[in-house]
Amino acid sequence: MPRIPQPVRLICFDVDGTLVDQTIYIWQTLHDHFGSDLQRRRQAQRDYLGRRISYAEWFFHDIELLRERGADRTGIEQVIGLLAPMPGAVETLAGLKARGYRIGVISGSLDLVLDHFFSSAPIDHRLINRFVFDAEGRLAGGEPTPYDMEGKAAGLRELARREGLTLEQCAFVGDNKNDLEVMRVAGYSVGVNVKHPLVEKAVDRVVSGRDLRPLLDIFQGILS
Ligand SMILES: [Mg+2]
Repeated sequence: MPRIPQPVRLICFDVDGTLVDQTIYIWQTLHDHFGSDLQRRRQAQRDYLGRRISYAEWFFHDIELLRERGADRTGIEQVIGLLAPMPGAVETLAGLKARGYRIGVISGSLDLVLDHFFSSAPIDHRLINRFVFDAEGRLAGGEPTPYDMEGKAAGLRELARREGLTLEQCAFVGDNKNDLEVMRVAGYSVGVNVKHPLVEKAVDRVVSGRDLRPLLDIFQGILS
């Protein structure tokens, strides 16, 4: 019998591959599109995973790779325009909010992706990377999120603190390996569009199929 997520008050979501379709990681999609230097890209990823550089250093390194290839606001927005919200995503966020849940995003994706597809969605907290452009629209830098990869768990703790909740009252919905840590600390976790067998093992529930509306059957509302 699946555990019923009755005490849950806050539901947090990953973005790439969870709320947004046609990408696994937006960074990868952007690098592929702009033709960033593959060798330096891979080296930076290895350096981050080997703890030789910080997440912020990785972030600025990859921004530099995109800048070298002339990535600007228009080009980046064109790439994002080729993606799509996951089927039922907008309806599901609105439905969960209407049932009284607080909604959060904890993601290593970009503010531009969230703004493009979910600008009017009832999202109470957005923990996500930010790109900064100069007056001509050229990519000029950004603000790295402290809450990607293993940091996602700290992101959930931060949102629980802001909401005055315990971690038991917080749920997380995600799809991939960078969600594993936060799935372990969340009171309840759901895998959607699962990309890795470890995620399938880690979560309380798996939603099969791409449509997110089954989440409305799982989170039926807050019982007072
Ligand atoms: Mg993802």
